[in-house]
Amino acid sequence: MTLKPIQKEKLYIDGEWINGQEYVQLYSPYSGEVIGEIPLASAEDVEKAVQAAEKAKGRLRKMPAHERATILENIARLLQQRFEEAAEIIAKEAGKPISTARGEVARTIQTYKFAAEEAKRIYGETLPLDAAPGGENRIAYTVREPLGVVAAITPFNFPMNLVAHKVGPAIASGNPVVLKPASQTPLSAYFIAKIAEEAGLPKGALHVVTGKGSVVGDALVTHPHVKMVTFTGSPAVGIGLRNKAGLKKVTLELGSNSAVIVDEGVPLEKMISRCVTGAFAYQGQVCISLQRIYVHENIYEDFVDKFVEATSKLKLGDSMDPSTDVSALISPSDVERVQEWIQEAVHQGAKVAIGGERTGNILHPTVLLDVPNESKVSCQEAFAPVVLINKVSSVEEAIQYVNNSQFGLQAGVYTENIHTALDAAETLEVGGVLINDIPTFRVDHMPYGGVKESGTGREGIKYAIEEMTELKLVIINRN
Ligand code: NAP
Repeated sequence: MTLKPIQKEKLYIDGEWINGQEYVQLYSPYSGEVIGEIPLASAEDVEKAVQAAEKAKGRLRKMPAHERATILENIARLLQQRFEEAAEIIAKEAGKPISTARGEVARTIQTYKFAAEEAKRIYGETLPLDAAPGGENRIAYTVREPLGVVAAITPFNFPMNLVAHKVGPAIASGNPVVLKPASQTPLSAYFIAKIAEEAGLPKGALHVVTGKGSVVGDALVTHPHVKMVTFTGSPAVGIGLRNKAGLKKVTLELGSNSAVIVDEGVPLEKMISRCVTGAFAYQGQVCISLQRIYVHENIYEDFVDKFVEATSKLKLGDSMDPSTDVSALISPSDVERVQEWIQEAVHQGAKVAIGGERTGNILHPTVLLDVPNESKVSCQEAFAPVVLINKVSSVEEAIQYVNNSQFGLQAGVYTENIHTALDAAETLEVGGVLINDIPTFRVDHMPYGGVKESGTGREGIKYAIEEMTELKLVIINRN
């Protein structure tokens, strides 16, 4: 292991590494040991970062696309060189099993590569103005211009790749970024800032200000120089900050209680392991984690038996152990919250097929059956290794359950019937429908985002660049 046991970090503002006036200790979610000392940025630190970003925006705006692309390619290359170190940081601070953390680093590299590529294809279009009487002899074209200072606020669950989904497209499109990572996962953000500096990112293009969401986040969201807030996190915080953001552009990537529907007649073998992964990968702390499974009554018993058996084989343990499938939840209070939710569902008539207990901060993978819609484990976001399997008599019935939700991020449907698949694609109220797959699928260039309380706007580099740029029209009068 290459990671130092305790890292003392500094704020990264205007290309300088600065001591914070105050520090907090960072603890490992699994072992509870101290793994870092993290500066708490004050409102003045945020002010300095935003002013420096504002100063840098002119230079970034003029930087040629090929230079922006080269910096992003360099970030991807340096990250590849320090792959294992990056994975260990994620595993330690987020309690993410190391094998899953490696997967996140691989995806982060992809995300910066996509950003490098997209930096070179930010196109406008020409418009035939003579389609309107009076528009003759005019040449019209559009360009996409960077917005200016982007505030990026990120969650704990993908501390490297979700930072990449904001820093990557912002740099690709020539915007400076002030990044506020989640308090539990600041080390990944500082690691990327060090790599970006080495990759040739100019002074002032990226700033990292760690500290309390209510202090740092608030100062960013209300700052007049900040032109866009790109936020990934919980609906409550996202909705609150949107209400404060005024006319700033706001992208919100929020939570969900994602579902999959399993029609009769589908082969279960391959699907069971996919569903188990979707429900329990990173302890269910994934925004598209599989939380609700609706299975046709003709195959229900078989599905439940196989699913429970596969769940019983998951290995619980230390996030740094390569054989661990499920480790600690991000905080002990989350373990307590979810156990209360499980108890509530049981009082309302649900059965526990497996799990429900805890070992330290590890909540055992839990499968619940016959869960009422109004139980919190069904209608709210569990963000934990808990999944429900309910019986339905048709896909149509299941679609009603899926749509009866305040969220709408992604949904999956397993069916052998093309008409059923197409009807589901049309009627599911979500940002993405996956046919013959679980909702827990994302590659980093696809448009990704939700409807309802799952958010507004899309990420996936090309789509994030659209959000981070303004369309400008130019008309040349030749009359
Ligand atoms: P969170 O508690 O909402 O925190 C997200 C970020 O917001 C953190 O950096 C947090 O800082 C900051 N914050 C807290 N209060 C704030 C305020 N008043 N103003 C501005 N910023 C504030 O979410 P989380 O627990 O880290 O992440 C889990 C949530 O993220 C889940 O709901 C999950 O579904 C969602 N998520 C969505 C996606 C997606 O793409 N749709 C992807 C991943 C995760 P502190 O850490 O300092 O509090």
